[in-house]
Amino acid sequence: MPEYRLGDVIDDFCVRCKRVMNHNVVSVLNSEPAKVRCRTCHSDHDYRHEQAPPPKVDPRKQALFDEVLKKVNPDDAAVAAGDAAAGDAAVGDAAESAAAAADAPKPKAKGKDKR
Ligand SMILES: [Zn+2]
Repeated sequence: MPEYRLGDVIDDFCVRCKRVMNHNVVSVLNSEPAKVRCRTCHSDHDYRHEQAPPPKVDPRKQALFDEVLKKVNPDDAAVAAGDAAAGDAAVGDAAESAAAAADAPKPKAKGKDKR
């Protein structure tokens, strides 16, 4: 087992660079690196033994997000399962609503300047 000394360059996962980078040992505890400093972004953090932290996806949040998505577009599954004609109709509706949205600002504008 190698002995670590302050300033040694070791590999570790950098939380800011989000990858394994060269680090300097800045703190040694029980001949193990305790804290390291990324040589690329110079951020200090605990030595992680080159392990990436677990992804921060909260399953409860993900479930709530899916629930909200269902409420926003409850027909999403039906459209996906529908035939081509239904898909075309949906596209046509979307185009019409887009055109309506484009027309909407016009009444607000004052016509004096352009006429
Ligand atoms: Zn870094």
